[in-house]
Amino acid sequence: MTTAKRIDGKAKAAQLAQSITRETEALLAEHGIKPGLAVVIIGEDPASQVYVRNKKRTAESCGFHSVQHTLDTGVSQEDVLALIDDLNADQSIHGILVQLPLPGHLDEQTITQAINPQKDVDGFHFINIGKLTAGLTADAFVPCTPAGCMLMIQDEMGSDLSGKNAVVIGRSNIVGKPMASLLLQANATVTITHSRTKDLAGVVASADIVVAAVGRPDMVKRDWVKPGAVVIDVGINRVEKIVDGEKKTGLTGDVDYDDVSNVAGAITPVPGGVGPMTITMLMANTLRSARLAAGLGG
Ligand code: NAD
Repeated sequence: MTTAKRIDGKAKAAQLAQSITRETEALLAEHGIKPGLAVVIIGEDPASQVYVRNKKRTAESCGFHSVQHTLDTGVSQEDVLALIDDLNADQSIHGILVQLPLPGHLDEQTITQAINPQKDVDGFHFINIGKLTAGLTADAFVPCTPAGCMLMIQDEMGSDLSGKNAVVIGRSNIVGKPMASLLLQANATVTITHSRTKDLAGVVASADIVVAAVGRPDMVKRDWVKPGAVVIDVGINRVEKIVDGEKKTGLTGDVDYDDVSNVAGAITPVPGGVGPMTITMLMANTLRSARLAAGLGG
């Protein structure tokens, strides 16, 4: 008995990308401006290469000026910072993204903080984190994954989440913490849980909204979830599955989709849920940055 609505992140992302493409065309026609996105990838992490390829492809299909810088694993920190300086000064570039994780000898914090906050379309600069935490969301670049999750939650529940309990599983700077800030700003009552939380299942059971961002395959089960809850699965886990008697590598989320679908009100699948929305929000942030740089409204 599957009762939950499947939230189709892929379709939502495609719809959003269409409107970004239309706005991009208008920006070029009316103001001669093309949003520019520079993606920096260091090393040969296979998952990062897939993400970067998808970002580049989406940027091009939205009509952006899209640039990729591929640096060797052994590149020095000075060379990375010099490239960021150049991109900060380049007027054709409105968004700069350094794909994480970085090789161990590079300092993630120094590198992400070197990006001009006005081009920080990933929302990792302390200025943007500070604005988000202070409730100045309209003035900040919000990290793409929680921004995409929020759009899906508000599509299901409306923009005002007053009286709703939200439980975020995971407290990372990239997903968990900014997700909690966004939910709080929409008036939800928010609990952030993590690896040291006692009785996680009991805490999740109180939630009208569950956002799982952990990295543990199929961790959230049916008996954790309140009937009717909206469940957003951020997790991306590579697992071996048996398909038609053959062992194949596939992706699964942090939520046991088939099991939780029996009780949730709405749920995102993996793949095809949060992932596509994340990439599209990156395009939305880059378009906004281009508009702001031209003195137009964001
Ligand atoms: P992270 O490793 O930085 O953080 C994981 C969090 O989970 C930590 O806060 C930790 O305390 C918590 N945690 C670990 N074990 C736990 C447990 N047993 N119970 C409760 N909490 C536990 O990871 P992240 O960067 O936040 O990413 C989380 C997941 O989301 C990963 O699978 C990642 O691949 C995925 N992700 C997906 C997208 C997307 O676009 N779909 C974007 C970013 C991350």
